Amino acid sequence: MSDTPTIQLTMPHPDIAELTFNEPHKGANVLSTGVLAELERHLDRLEKQAGLAGLVIRSGKPGSFIVGADLREFVAALDSPAEQTVAMCHRGRRLFQRLSTMPLVTVAAIDGLCLGGGAELAVWCDRRLMADVPKAQLGFPEIKLGLYPGWGGTARTSRIVGLASALEMVTTGEPVDARGAVLMGLATDRVPAERLQDAAIALVRAEQKSRTYLEDRRRWSQPLVVNDTELAFLAATANALIQQQTRGQYPAPPAALEMMLESASLDLETACVREAEGMAALFGSPVNRALINVFFLVDRNKKDSGIDRRDVQPLPVRSIGVVGAGIMGRGISAANLKRNVSVTITDAAGDALHDGVEKILEEAAYSKQTRRADPDRAVHFASLLSATPNPDDLATADLVIEAVIENPDIKRQIFARLEPRLRPYAVLASNTSTIPITQLAQGLSRPDRFCGIHFFNPVRKMLLVEVIRGKQTSDQTIATAVAYAKSVGKMPVVVNDGPGFLVNRLLSPFLTESVELLLDGAEPAAIERAARNFGMPMGPLQIYDMVGLDTAYYAGRVMYDAFPDRTVVSPVVGALVKAGRKGQKTGAGFFSYARDPERGEPDPKLAEIIAPYMRPQTKSTSEQITARLFMPMLLEATRELADGVVHDPRDIDLALIHGLGFPPFKGGLLFWAQTLGIDRILEMLKPLAPLGVRMEPTPLLLEMARNGKPFYRPGP
Ligand code: NAD
Repeated sequence: MSDTPTIQLTMPHPDIAELTFNEPHKGANVLSTGVLAELERHLDRLEKQAGLAGLVIRSGKPGSFIVGADLREFVAALDSPAEQTVAMCHRGRRLFQRLSTMPLVTVAAIDGLCLGGGAELAVWCDRRLMADVPKAQLGFPEIKLGLYPGWGGTARTSRIVGLASALEMVTTGEPVDARGAVLMGLATDRVPAERLQDAAIALVRAEQKSRTYLEDRRRWSQPLVVNDTELAFLAATANALIQQQTRGQYPAPPAALEMMLESASLDLETACVREAEGMAALFGSPVNRALINVFFLVDRNKKDSGIDRRDVQPLPVRSIGVVGAGIMGRGISAANLKRNVSVTITDAAGDALHDGVEKILEEAAYSKQTRRADPDRAVHFASLLSATPNPDDLATADLVIEAVIENPDIKRQIFARLEPRLRPYAVLASNTSTIPITQLAQGLSRPDRFCGIHFFNPVRKMLLVEVIRGKQTSDQTIATAVAYAKSVGKMPVVVNDGPGFLVNRLLSPFLTESVELLLDGAEPAAIERAARNFGMPMGPLQIYDMVGLDTAYYAGRVMYDAFPDRTVVSPVVGALVKAGRKGQKTGAGFFSYARDPERGEPDPKLAEIIAPYMRPQTKSTSEQITARLFMPMLLEATRELADGVVHDPRDIDLALIHGLGFPPFKGGLLFWAQTLGIDRILEMLKPLAPLGVRMEPTPLLLEMARNGKPFYRPGP
């Protein structure tokens, strides 16, 4: 703890006070109890000071205003009783509320991220001015933590911008930029960053003259003006959208909606009381705890260098080479261009290279607004991309990523040719999804400079990258790969070499169990439903179809060779491949894609193909199906921990969320299991015992049941 205060009071003019937030030794300002107490002391003093015309609140950190409340304090308070949560909400709100009643004009001058509690502080000011820079964003991300703004943010924002805009901001958690804020009336104006302070002072003067802020103070303390038809329309449309986006699995958005609709007809004070009371049901709830855990998983990942020592620094990666212009090579190239890393790409097939360049530029230059490639961006990215039939042209790259077909001999031939031509410090990497990195490193003269950099498909969507450490990979190579993956916007997780690495090793038992369930008589739709109800974005059979049954068959063999004791090799996948049903890409797999190439439909032919392999039928409830799908995944995760696949158990949870779509509202696979309790997990495994080794409690689980230790302690 430092004694240096966060908030500085200055007087740019004799009648204008300025409070500048600048938390010492921190990159961003957060609202801790200590900082709120400082604010309180300043307001006490300023309220008593005669002759003041205005107060400007700003940040001393360029590009960042106040990014929210202190989540560490939230974690410490998660077990508080409801009354304490309500009291905490009232305390913060009453403090901020003073900004809307002081005998002077209050202006928030926002030149960067203004989020959560920071945004609530800003909306309690009479006026908000924003710098016209992309970083200036105002938003309420609380919903992403299973909460809503509780310091008066919902009540006050509805009254400033109207119920529809406030509902959208609160229930989606998406911030608005300066332009959007001005358009909706949340900010008075947007001005160049260097003029922000002068403009704020000018605004104080203008308000003192016009006195409109006093009119707004009166208006915003009253109920909202909305009629019943408008309210009913908002309720119906917002509810439909929330249901579609949350599938009933996230309680905060519907709670915020209901509370804000009800509070519309109340005066501001009573609306704030309702807001605080509603928070008590969300704060500390299972979903809130899970989402806070995910926040800290990501936060930890941002700080993780991937290695356990500090004396090794990553090497800069300014240019990369990519071998293979297929699905993955294209995605990887586009992701690099988007971060201005120059790319040289090669492919043995001229067509693939030619088409690849077009697709790479299309993807990199894609604009969400116009929903097509932006021509100016495409021209810019074209200057960073070279395509060549000659792999020797990759020799000057700082990093070369190989993404050719999954064949170890071909991959090794490529490495043998490339390695002697590369710069001595360059890193060579493979995007392989199954072949051991140590095996691919055989024959290299610098195996220490070789690792796996496993991007997931589709690269533009999937944040996870597995950085795979072979037996001889050096710390510097790992640190470089990790820093590089972060520089292109990904979340790298370091994984020790092994079959299926991290994610596919856990996906495999989940997938194979779904086929076992089919053979025991479960309906495909029931299996998919159970997985989706658990929170997965899609069911295991649909994943099979998406990955491709031929690829899945091969991956299944790899897992069987490694873990024959517990890997089921079902004849079904092979039979489907033989029947030409390789999944989505061939129009049929477990489902048929004849009518819609994206959405599979039940196919009566499946029953014919699997008929010869069916076993005596058993009836399974949805709960039993869920247990059968997720227990093998959990057991395998405990084996990964025992085998030292990751250097921190939290990496398993992060990787499954961002590599497989494991539901964030469950906090991660291990977090979910320890929240249920290891004794409960052992209970759930008991009825599955007849299925054999694959459902046996692992030594790690049994040990945890004995010593009561969690996989990891959630929080910072
Ligand atoms: P793909 O079949 O789409 O593309 C492979 C490309 O490699 C083709 O364009 C082919 O012409 C080219 N190629 C083949 N031999 C070559 C050679 N000797 N020199 C240069 N180019 C050559 O394959 P993909 O799906 O992009 O997979 C590439 C790698 O990424 C594989 O190792 C795969 O396991 C891995 N991977 C794939 C996925 C996925 O979902 N597709 C996900 C993660 C990792």
